[in-house]
Amino acid sequence: MINAKARAVFNPEGSFKPASIERRDLQPDDILIEIKYAGICHSDIHATRGEWGPVNYPFVPGHEIAGIVSQVGSEVSKFTVGDRVGVGCMVDSCGECVHCHNGEEQYCLNGMTSTYGSIDKYGQYTQGGYSSHIVVKEGFVVRIPDSLELDVAAPLLCAGITTYSPLRHWGAAPGKKVAIVGLGGLGHMAVKLAHAMGAEVTVLSQTLKKKDDGLQLGADHYFATSDPETFKKLAGSFDLIVNTVSAKIDISAYLSLLALDGTMVNVGAPAEPLDVNVFSLIGHRRSFAGSSIGGIRETQEMLDFCAEHHIAPEIEVISANQIDEAWERVLASDVRYRFVIDINTMDNE
Ligand code: NAP
Ligand code: ZN
Repeated sequence: MINAKARAVFNPEGSFKPASIERRDLQPDDILIEIKYAGICHSDIHATRGEWGPVNYPFVPGHEIAGIVSQVGSEVSKFTVGDRVGVGCMVDSCGECVHCHNGEEQYCLNGMTSTYGSIDKYGQYTQGGYSSHIVVKEGFVVRIPDSLELDVAAPLLCAGITTYSPLRHWGAAPGKKVAIVGLGGLGHMAVKLAHAMGAEVTVLSQTLKKKDDGLQLGADHYFATSDPETFKKLAGSFDLIVNTVSAKIDISAYLSLLALDGTMVNVGAPAEPLDVNVFSLIGHRRSFAGSSIGGIRETQEMLDFCAEHHIAPEIEVISANQIDEAWERVLASDVRYRFVIDINTMDNE
């Protein structure tokens, strides 16, 4: 067993405390990663607080992991010690079903193993990246291009791929009008990526507070959803809407903003069900869809795309002692635009 330092929560209302966790000894296809940075995703909050289902405590979240390979198993061929690597939301899948074969491991028919909160094939409860080290199968590790610093690379492993995948799947490109709902961690990446893919991008945020930022990030237009005029003015205008909001919103109102054959994709994952008035779909042959992260191959493609287009998230680096405070700011929509934990600061316990 390898002992790793971590920051864990010990009950649903709990704050972060130092903890020591065990990582398995390396199997032939495993890599030991020394984690340098871990991004804070809103999913960490939903999951840790039991909003998505029962949780075992102590719980170590974190699925935006960037670090350095420090040891490799005997059969590892893709990576060597010293490589700059990333791990996202998955650490394993069955490898045998049609979706695994097609590189869409996130839709594994036998259930993928999440980076935290899953039981892996060794019977261990997985613990995430708010931690000094992690052991991962090489097939679930991606390479971070040299031009991306590790701190900005971390959020790409979830916020980046979760927005890149639906934008690609639903064809964000020149001539397409794309709206992004919510300008947080996922939302700001969606704006940058959709802009780089050549789409005409509109931000739909609760207020105009972040308008200058949104335009700077690459949006062509920016509207406040607290203003009822927004829904009148933009009715029937978008080919694609990507909803990144972490709370329940009035889905039917947003569906009315789609053009004929338009699609609204939910990546936001609030615990409570969302109501849909089917007439907002029927009237203009619209679709309401969902999308989960992205496969490993597509995650590598997204990292390479970001390197090529000089795209990186806007981050605020924090120390391990500031995680509780950062979570409160995420919950208050006061994130600009992703918190990233400097894992080296865990040494100052
Ligand atoms: P985040 O940084 O907190 O961003 C969410 C944004 O939604 C906020 O910044 C805010 O933007 C808006 N918002 C928040 N509460 C709202 C409310 N009550 N009404 C309207 N708008 C509201 O969160 P994130 O890390 O980007 O994650 C967003 C969601 O995606 C979470 O539910 C997360 O679990 C989910 N997620 C899903 C996947 C997937 O695979 N599908 C992957 C990762 C994350 P404005 O201030 O601009 O309005
Ligand atoms: Zn995430």
